[in-house]
Amino acid sequence: ELYNKIQELKGNIRVFCRCRPLNSEEIAEGASMAFDFEGSRDGELRVKSNIAFRKNFKFDSVFTPEANQVDVFEDTSSFATSVLDGYNVCIFAYGQTGTGKTFTMEGTDGDRGVNFRTLQELFRVINERRNQIRYEISVSVLEVYNEQIRDLLLPSSQPGVAAKRLEIRQVGEGLHHVPGLVEAQVSNMGEVWEVLKTGSNSRAVGSTNSNEHSSRSHCIHCVMVKGENLVNGEITRSKLWLVDLAGSERVAKTEVQGERLKETQNINRSLSALGDVISALATKSPHIPFRNSKLTHLLQDSLGGDSKTLMFVQISPNENDLSESLCSLNFASRVR
Ligand code: ADP
Ligand code: MG
Repeated sequence: ELYNKIQELKGNIRVFCRCRPLNSEEIAEGASMAFDFEGSRDGELRVKSNIAFRKNFKFDSVFTPEANQVDVFEDTSSFATSVLDGYNVCIFAYGQTGTGKTFTMEGTDGDRGVNFRTLQELFRVINERRNQIRYEISVSVLEVYNEQIRDLLLPSSQPGVAAKRLEIRQVGEGLHHVPGLVEAQVSNMGEVWEVLKTGSNSRAVGSTNSNEHSSRSHCIHCVMVKGENLVNGEITRSKLWLVDLAGSERVAKTEVQGERLKETQNINRSLSALGDVISALATKSPHIPFRNSKLTHLLQDSLGGDSKTLMFVQISPNENDLSESLCSLNFASRVR
């Protein structure tokens, strides 16, 4: 009760900053760290004092390079489980390619991330509440690439059959839907794992360089929850969006042409549209520009109102990446 009151006063948008460790290549090159984490317990992040450009940032949590997946999920789980109480929730990972967005959201086989842990926690709470509420969970996995939506749960398109174009439709007051999108019902973690695997496998299909492709597209998991109160018959519906965003790195226009230029413009457009929407919500602006990108349009029902938003801003510890890190940190400061 008190917790909810405090949350209310603080608003519904949180920003967590996570810094990956230096990798072995960087260590071999003798790369230096750009940040000091002395104030990280209080949510402070400082650019190291020997660096000319000094700046401090403040976030709801700061995860140092030593923080593991369990530490991160400890602070994240309450957002995720809010969906069982009927809230819409969005969790994003934002940052330059190579800073750990996919590590945070998807994780690795041995070190699973927010997506898997969230579903695990949902099923744990569902079991705890089984005498009061009956839940139904379904999951969609999609990708937004070049302002086009692709269903990642659809069996990979057969030769000669054009991929289905998916569009967002408004189906009621504040209710948007993507007709035709596969919604896979899941009732245990075995089924969840199958769905997550199918999604990540089909993401790689049709691209010559799957790493590059995944850094140029937004990968989105939508968890739909229907809860039926067994006492009074009341039904609640809510959605949890888990979004691994396209890389935020700036690409010089002079360096890219043709398809690649269009791709870059689409990424810039959707990431800045997302920033505009969240900061408009944070400042309670009367006009929220949801329609400026497929991403914000898709998430429209789950941003604002009493929904909850969590943004991970992912950064590199390497001093050589500082200018990109500062861009990400400034973006995140703007939405907070
Ligand atoms: P992005 O999705 O932002 O491009 P990745 O998640 O692919 O970045 O991370 C790049 C590499 O760094 C991967 O090999 C990943 O496993 C590793 N990595 C990222 N964050 C961490 C972390 N906190 N701890 C350990 N390894 C990490
Ligand atoms: Mg990635």
